[in-house]
Formats: sequence, structure tokens, C-alpha cells
Amino acid sequence: MILRTCTFCFAERAAEIRFDKRGRPYLVCRLCHTRCFFRSLDAVRGLAICPTLIAAAIERRKTEPKFRDWFDGEIAKTISFVTANAVAPPTRVEHMGLSPEQSPIPFDLGVQGVLSNTP
Ligand SMILES: [Zn+2]
Repeated sequence: MILRTCTFCFAERAAEIRFDKRGRPYLVCRLCHTRCFFRSLDAVRGLAICPTLIAAAIERRKTEPKFRDWFDGEIAKTISFVTANAVAPPTRVEHMGLSPEQSPIPFDLGVQGVLSNTP
């Protein structure tokens, strides 16, 4: 089993590639529980590249305030849009029954992020 960074919640070691009964690939995140079905192998390109790009962006976010503002702002805008139109289910990591070494590592915007309550 290869665990990847989730392209949706950015949790490390959380996304697993699985195959349905007909052998079609899909991605499932152990933290945010997103399931993403690939209708063609073209879609697997993003699966291969996105975790690396996300990791690079998270590293860049740590040292470049302007990039962090953009990064957090894009997330905040999208969360606002989604929550204005639907209620997202909560993350329930405590119900997953995983040992600490198997547990996904949630992405944390940190205290300097736009979404933080701390100035
Ligand atoms: Zn996820």
C-alpha cells in the first residue's frame, strides 16, 4: 500500500490508491474520507504529480509571506464558497482506529494563516 499526500486536505500519508470490483482505480483519503474515482488513466497524471507540488507549495508557504497569503486566501475563498452552498462533513480521525504510526498527518495552516483566529 502506497500512502500519498491527500490532494484535497493535504494530509501526509493519508491517500491510498484502491481498485474497485471491476479493477478501476480510485483514491480514498483516510483523514478527510474523500473518494475520487478516475474515469481514465489521464486523470492519474495528477495523482502522480500533485502530492509533490503540494509539498513544495507547503514548504514555500513557510518562508514566503506573500505566497502564504495567496495560498491561505485561495483556500479561504473556496471554503467560503463550499460552505455557502453545502454543509461539509466533519473529520473524524478518532473513529478511524489507526495506530499513531499509521495515522495520517493533517495539514495545519498554522497561527500565521488567514484562517487562524490568532492575529
Ligand atoms: Zn484528505
